[in-house]
Amino acid sequence: MFIGLLMASTLMTVSPPAPRLASVSPQIITHGARTHKWVVLSFDACETRKPAGYDAKIIDILTRTHTPATLFLGGHWMETHPAQARMLAANPLFEIGDHSYLHPHMTKISTAQMDDDLRKTQAVHQNLTGRQARLFRPPYGEYDASVIQEAARFGMKSVTWEVVTGDPDKHVTAPNIVRTVLARTKPGSIVIMHVNGRGWHTAEALPAVIAGLKKKGYSFARLSETLE
Ligand SMILES: [Zn+2]
Repeated sequence: MFIGLLMASTLMTVSPPAPRLASVSPQIITHGARTHKWVVLSFDACETRKPAGYDAKIIDILTRTHTPATLFLGGHWMETHPAQARMLAANPLFEIGDHSYLHPHMTKISTAQMDDDLRKTQAVHQNLTGRQARLFRPPYGEYDASVIQEAARFGMKSVTWEVVTGDPDKHVTAPNIVRTVLARTKPGSIVIMHVNGRGWHTAEALPAVIAGLKKKGYSFARLSETLE
């Protein structure tokens, strides 16, 4: 309890409360508009109390190929990777959403705990980048009406996905990832991958994913662009 209080007070000094964004109407997004042959590549940077990493190769490939993407950064991940969080937020190729502070099972915690988690994430995000997220990806893609409602109170639309690469599984090879994405992507699809070092073959697969989608006539967009 004492340690918990100490950590909470330390965090408050590092991250002052962020100004409250206007709430949005509660919404869960699973794909973008089907009107264009575009696809949203999304990458999560999840971190629990167990340290996660940063897969620089993925960001290098996206940057080198001028491929826009939507990144969902965890609050604790941003705290342990401040330079990377700032750099990603400053890169106009990327749209940045929040991915909770400590990656809890949101449907299993109280509204007060959810509030606390979202508020901490928002504060870290604001403190590092001067901005706040408009998109929220619930950890594990687990949500219910109250999760969507809470995210909306914090000014964020909730976002899941349509195409699961399975990249946190070591046994999912690069060719597996490429095959899955090329077979399942439809206009407006959101593809989920990981940039926290837990996408074991993601960087290896990414050039072929990008080239393969382009060959099929797809362009790449940040999620918000596909919602307009
Ligand atoms: Zn995650």
